[in-house]
Amino acid sequence: MSSSISISRTKELWELIKAGATLDAQERIMELRQAMLDLQEENLALKEELREANQQLAVPALVIDRGVYWVQLEGDSRDGPFCPLCADGAGKRIRLREAGTFSTPHQWGCDMCSSLYPA
Ligand SMILES: [Zn+2]
Repeated sequence: MSSSISISRTKELWELIKAGATLDAQERIMELRQAMLDLQEENLALKEELREANQQLAVPALVIDRGVYWVQLEGDSRDGPFCPLCADGAGKRIRLREAGTFSTPHQWGCDMCSSLYPA
């Protein structure tokens, strides 16, 4: 329901009240109340959509290097690595931890999905 429809409905409502048609007026009030609730709901959904879009814009892009994701920072420095499976599958940026021991070669491990990646 657009605001122009809402304004014409309000005028219609005022005419009904002036003519003493209170039942019709009550019906119009209920319609307007419902339309307002629908708009509030739509407004909330749009705000949430906008918040998510802004959040995605603020997050720097991931770059892949030898099978794991990194965030390229200024100069030669970078942040990471992050789990590719969690990033591509669940859209979550999960930091990998060093999982190497004396007996196994150095690896990156994901605490979320338990994937192991050679470092
Ligand atoms: Zn993972």
